[in-house]
Amino acid sequence: MVVAERKPLNELLEMVQPYKKILVAGCKGCVTVCNAGGKKEVEILASELRIARKKEGQEPDVKEITLERQCDPEYMDQLTEVIKDRDAVLSIACSVGPQYIAGRFDDKVVFPGLNTTFIGGSLEHGVFAEFCQACGACGIHNFGGLCPIARCSKSLLNGPCGGSSKGKCEISKEVDCVWQLIYDRLNRLGQMDRLTRVIPCKDWTTSRDGGPRKTIREDLKL
Ligand code: SF4
Ligand code: SF4
Repeated sequence: MVVAERKPLNELLEMVQPYKKILVAGCKGCVTVCNAGGKKEVEILASELRIARKKEGQEPDVKEITLERQCDPEYMDQLTEVIKDRDAVLSIACSVGPQYIAGRFDDKVVFPGLNTTFIGGSLEHGVFAEFCQACGACGIHNFGGLCPIARCSKSLLNGPCGGSSKGKCEISKEVDCVWQLIYDRLNRLGQMDRLTRVIPCKDWTTSRDGGPRKTIREDLKL
């Protein structure tokens, strides 16, 4: 999933300060799973905005909505009515969401309420970690099913570096050295011979380095 975290309240209050009628828009996708921008978080943020405005002596006018997804044009229709009288929208979807809203509703000011951080998963309740950098040409089968691009601090394809110690990365004792994990896993799989192969330089044109990307599925197009 896409992992994101909410911006600090002060930052959000400053963003929407000039606008009276606010819409807080959440998303039922990834940001619900990582507890950053689902229905519950919309309710909390809207309440915080109302309280802040009341403290400033203003009558708060904050509406709420949580879309099925904010990264799909068909769900933008859910905004059509509620957005009409709004001065600004505070989207707490991942950063795709506010861009979809801005693209669809030309006359509305849109703010990102979240910082989109990475593609990852949960390790335990409330703890999320990065697992993929969307390089566009997955090769984790070469590494026992683990991704050194996302999970090695130096994105080494031929690791480990000299800083690995007791299974931890040199950047922090809290961070596993993924090359230790790769070694352990290849050992368990009986594939240690893979470590003798030199992985060639990666072609990064499939990654962001080749410019903004698109996936076109001819079989799905109407
Ligand atoms: S190899 Fe690329 S696509 Fe596969 S997990 Fe790593 S970054 Fe993601
Ligand atoms: S210690 Fe391991 S994870 Fe950290 S940079 Fe070196 S090889 Fe990569």
